[in-house]
Amino acid sequence: MKNVTVIDHPVVQAKLAQLRDRKTPHPEFRRLLGELSLPLVYEATRDLPVKSRSINTPLARAAGVALSREVLLVPILRAALGMLDGSKQILPEARVGFIGMARNEKTLQPEWYLDKVPSRLARFEAILLDPMLATGGSAIAAGQLLEKRGAKKIRFVHVLASRHGIRELRKHFPKSPITVAAIDGKLNDIGYIVPGLGDAGDRCFGC
Ligand code: URA
Repeated sequence: MKNVTVIDHPVVQAKLAQLRDRKTPHPEFRRLLGELSLPLVYEATRDLPVKSRSINTPLARAAGVALSREVLLVPILRAALGMLDGSKQILPEARVGFIGMARNEKTLQPEWYLDKVPSRLARFEAILLDPMLATGGSAIAAGQLLEKRGAKKIRFVHVLASRHGIRELRKHFPKSPITVAAIDGKLNDIGYIVPGLGDAGDRCFGC
């Protein structure tokens, strides 16, 4: 699929299997989710713009680069909080905006409860974090908010995606890159990814 990267690295896939395992308790789930965020965000930011700089090593002058634009991480509460620390390890200077969205379990549509995203986003490279891309509803609504605030390019980062979620997201953001650890084939009748890993928020926070 165009613009969709699945990280098939064996270490990532082994951690993902542990994450999926129903026997994995919440402290370990949280640790694994955090660890998985690192390769996902590295891959998602592969094409961040850079500017040249030169540095002095202890031995000589060397050519290098620095990131040329500010990065905004936007975790969708609450499950994506489990991806935030790992993402900040890679991008310590990133600013962080928060979106609170819960799924209405009857309509499966996202409902807003928090918007802590800067009002002008044109100067940022925006990275949207959400471990599960299931129906696509939350990611689409969050992406539209970022776009309305002026974000030019939004990178979507998920641990697991459903095929349906990717198709839906693509309709609204045909050019945005999507980075995932795996794509599962099915959604059940309450919009959960199958086989998936269950409710990522509950499993991350233990309730
Ligand atoms: N949210 C979750 O936490 N899990 C799913 O499978 C779908 C949405």
